[in-house]
Amino acid sequence: MIKQFIRINSLESRIVALFISLMLALQIAAFFYINQAIDANARNAVRNELLVGERVFKRLLEQNAQKLTTGAKVLAADYAFRDAVASHNQETIASALENHGERIGSAITVLIGLDHKIQAQAAPSSGPDLERIARQLSTQAEQKGTADDIDIIDGKPFQFVIVPIKAPITIGWVVMAFPINQTTVMDMKAVSALDTTILTQAQNQAWQLNVSTFPDQAQKSLLTWSDQTVHKLNSSMTVEMSLEEKEFSAHVVKLVSNSQYQTIALLHRSVSDAVEEYQRLKITLLVLTFIGIVVAIFTSVFFARRLTGPLRDLAESAKELGRGHYNVLIKTDRKDEIGDLANAFAHMREDIALREEKISRLAYWDTLTQLPNRVQFLSMLKTAIDESANYQEQCYVLMMDLDRFKHVNDVMGHRFGDELLRQVGHRLCEELGTQHSKPARLGGDEFAIVLPRSTQQQAQQVANQILMALERPISIEDQTVDLSAGIGIAAYPKDGQDPSTLLIHAEVAMYAAKVSRSGALEYSPEIDQSSQLSLSLLSELRHALDTQAFRLYAQPKIALDNNKVVAVEVLIRWIHPERGFIYPDQFIPFSEQTGFIRLLTLWVLEQSALACKNWIESGLQLKVSVNLSTRDLLDQDLPFKIQTILNKYQVTPEHFCLEITESAIMDDPIRAQQTLDKLSGMGFDLSIDDFGTGYSSLAYLKRLPVNELKIDKSFVLSMENDADDTKIVRSTIDLGHNMGLRVVAEGVENLKVMQLLAELGCDQAQGYFMSKPIPVEQIHGWIQTWNQQHSL
Ligand code: C2E
Ligand code: CA
Ligand code: CA
Repeated sequence: MIKQFIRINSLESRIVALFISLMLALQIAAFFYINQAIDANARNAVRNELLVGERVFKRLLEQNAQKLTTGAKVLAADYAFRDAVASHNQETIASALENHGERIGSAITVLIGLDHKIQAQAAPSSGPDLERIARQLSTQAEQKGTADDIDIIDGKPFQFVIVPIKAPITIGWVVMAFPINQTTVMDMKAVSALDTTILTQAQNQAWQLNVSTFPDQAQKSLLTWSDQTVHKLNSSMTVEMSLEEKEFSAHVVKLVSNSQYQTIALLHRSVSDAVEEYQRLKITLLVLTFIGIVVAIFTSVFFARRLTGPLRDLAESAKELGRGHYNVLIKTDRKDEIGDLANAFAHMREDIALREEKISRLAYWDTLTQLPNRVQFLSMLKTAIDESANYQEQCYVLMMDLDRFKHVNDVMGHRFGDELLRQVGHRLCEELGTQHSKPARLGGDEFAIVLPRSTQQQAQQVANQILMALERPISIEDQTVDLSAGIGIAAYPKDGQDPSTLLIHAEVAMYAAKVSRSGALEYSPEIDQSSQLSLSLLSELRHALDTQAFRLYAQPKIALDNNKVVAVEVLIRWIHPERGFIYPDQFIPFSEQTGFIRLLTLWVLEQSALACKNWIESGLQLKVSVNLSTRDLLDQDLPFKIQTILNKYQVTPEHFCLEITESAIMDDPIRAQQTLDKLSGMGFDLSIDDFGTGYSSLAYLKRLPVNELKIDKSFVLSMENDADDTKIVRSTIDLGHNMGLRVVAEGVENLKVMQLLAELGCDQAQGYFMSKPIPVEQIHGWIQTWNQQHSL
């Protein structure tokens, strides 16, 4: 929870923050509004109370005045008193004033004469104030009959009334006065619950507090407040004030205002007290506000969680997916958009997992054989090396390549080839059992096995085991295939410290094993050297083809019955930029081994077709003999390729003879027969080259569509001195003729041999005696010379 709140920019905290701030704003606004309303209400109530208070106060004073008036009237109506007044009996007047005043509680009782002067009085003091008041009141009473007023005597407020004394005409007035004192304000408080203060100011003097319902301390501060404020106040005004840290509203009631005195009554109502009743309401409101906020927080957190919880889970799952953990479970029972998202996510996870599995299978497994592929093998090898290094032991790598697999693939088709590879993989697994690591297929017909912590003996043993396992024929689709393979062996740390070096060296050893047909061969630096040479030779050959460093030479063939030049054999030469003129013996065998010969043959055919075209155009009738090798015969497409070339130069197969050695045919008689049948069908002459050096069975030869036998030069070269050779040549010529074949002798180096061959009935001769092979361009000139010399 804490961790999530720290993430302030998370969706959840934003939702929560939004919710809470909305709720807070709402609650606070409501709180302030209600608080304000309560306050306004309270003050309003206070103001009303004060207005009522003013009326009550005035009423109280009025009642007092009435009471006093009644008392005064009783006195004025008293017969004895009237009599005394009329008779100016001072003594009686004084006692009546005193007695009567005392009885009704008048503090000052005065008799005023018609001259508006005080005639007698029962009062604690007299003075200018009383005289002035007597004059004012009697003047009013003269007009209205009775009067009352509030006025100040010696700085203290009194309530005065005046009534006339009638006998029956007015003979004087009686004035009575109540002090406005503590009793008055206490009465006021009893009736109205308002605190009341009476303040008086004599002219040019400070305000004096007359009476107050406040305790002493409050009175003092009230006095201070009055000094500064009261002079600004009008009657019936309400002001705010604070006394002893309590809020009050004070209402001004003007009691006296004349040239000498100002007196006011302040009616106080404690605002705090008035508000107090609302305080409970406020607290309730506060509690409600607080509860509202808490509920808002919890609901918003709850909802945010419900919303963001699954999102967070999804994000977490996505991270796991990113790390390659595809088994994370994404479960949801929600039916809303988040549920949809989670479901989509779950599907995505499954799809990715499937795809990843597929990709990693493709990346690490060979799909054909279900064996580890090269990539995985390299990592297996790395592990094996590390393990062996830990124990300071050796680690052996075996690399195996099937013999003639390409051939099988070409002849039997790819489906067959694939099945063969599958079965080989299966057999390897079977043979190696579980005590060895799985064999890997590195590509093509290459397999490899790693033997961690092994010895040379064990490696040899495994290699032999494999070779023996492959000796059992494999049958596929009712066909039986004989297999063999070359195995190269390399060891860590002797032959390499890292997987790729080891693998390269095992491969080198493997090729050497195949070339030497020695089954399994361990790597040694010497093998490497020769293989490096071969590699560089191959790239040189390719380069030579690109840079037109090959030349086509031709050697004439002479018909022995009439000495006419009837054919030429084309032979290739290599003009090397550094090594100069290179004879085919130095690169043809290698080209055959590596398959490069196919390219060379096409080049020769192309050049021959061009030369043939030129000869035809210049009127020469020559059969052009071209040498083919085993590899060429195995190429199913060869007839088609030759046809394409001939078409290009508009020459026909009848102008060509294809020379094939016996051994080329015997390498794979069935395939050779198929190709030869096709070529023969197209119209090519076929010739068996180097006849006599191989072991071809005559029965087999008979079935081949050949036209010519070419006796190998080893029998011809010195036949004039060698009776055995002559016998062989003679019987070969007879054999050829018996089979209906043309017989050609090569290696004719002198006239004697040529004559001998003619005697033996040989058809054609070829040899240095007539001409060494010369560039094809020179053939035309050479023939002209030849013809001249032989008057042809
Ligand atoms: P080959 O097909 O038996 O060619 C005849 C070889 O005998 C040629 O050697 C030729 O120069 C040599 N020869 C001809 N008359 C005489 C002679 O009177 N005395 C001696 N000592 N030798 C003679 P070259 O041209 O060096 O060719 C050697 C071999 O190279 C050829 O033997 C052939 O197997 C191969 N070869 C040459 N050119 C081609 C080619 O274009 N394609 C293929 N597949 N093989 C070729
Ligand atoms: Ca030849
Ligand atoms: Ca030959």
